[in-house]
Amino acid sequence: MCRHAAWLGPVRSLTTLISDPGHGLLHQSYAPRLQKYGTVNADGFGFGWYDGSRPVRYRRTVPVWSDANMPGLASAARSHCLIAAVRSATVGMPIEETATAPFADGPWLLSHNGRVGREAVRPLAADAESVCDSAWLAAAVFTRLRDGLPLAGVLPAVVRAASEGDPEARLNLLVTGGSHLAAVAWGDTLFTHLEEGVLVASEPLDDRPGWRAVPDRSLLLASPDGVSVTPID
Ligand code: GLN
Repeated sequence: MCRHAAWLGPVRSLTTLISDPGHGLLHQSYAPRLQKYGTVNADGFGFGWYDGSRPVRYRRTVPVWSDANMPGLASAARSHCLIAAVRSATVGMPIEETATAPFADGPWLLSHNGRVGREAVRPLAADAESVCDSAWLAAAVFTRLRDGLPLAGVLPAVVRAASEGDPEARLNLLVTGGSHLAAVAWGDTLFTHLEEGVLVASEPLDDRPGWRAVPDRSLLLASPDGVSVTPID
């Protein structure tokens, strides 16, 4: 599984997800602690942040540690809403920027940790930017959001449909529209840390107390008003 992380709260730089914490995504790219599938996340990485309400995105197919421009970019990219992912490509999936999270559509940015049979997700969307399973899953979510359905309903509906088609699917999703975050725990770990905002991550970014595990098969919603976790049944 890849690793992802997001922040919603007062303005911070992307380094707070990547390189400031002792176990940020830079460290998790070569030494994840809780990863059950895959050993390193060296097949690419992606950053997303908001310039006001406008999403900005940067994706590469190289390991995050090997991009000499990354430290400068990560410290200059400052926002109230940040998302980042490091990738361990599933066997058979292409290594290309279009297969790398965060996927984007309109105001939305999305990351997927996991694996899903493409026969289970292809019927859920008309097209995707890559043949990668995650790109199809993203397209399934974006199609429904574009139709105006609420994120809190779209994510459980897509996860249910995908897992019906592939009961072994692992479907940890992280989605933001800039003013709120949503995340699904479905087959892999997910943690939150509440401070003056909310951190969400596949695994804790540091050893501070206060990290809470989100139960499997649940939906986390975070907005400036607070955080809720509800089961997906
Ligand atoms: N299946 C996705 C990919 O190939 C996600 C992989 C993962 O979570 N390790 O990119």
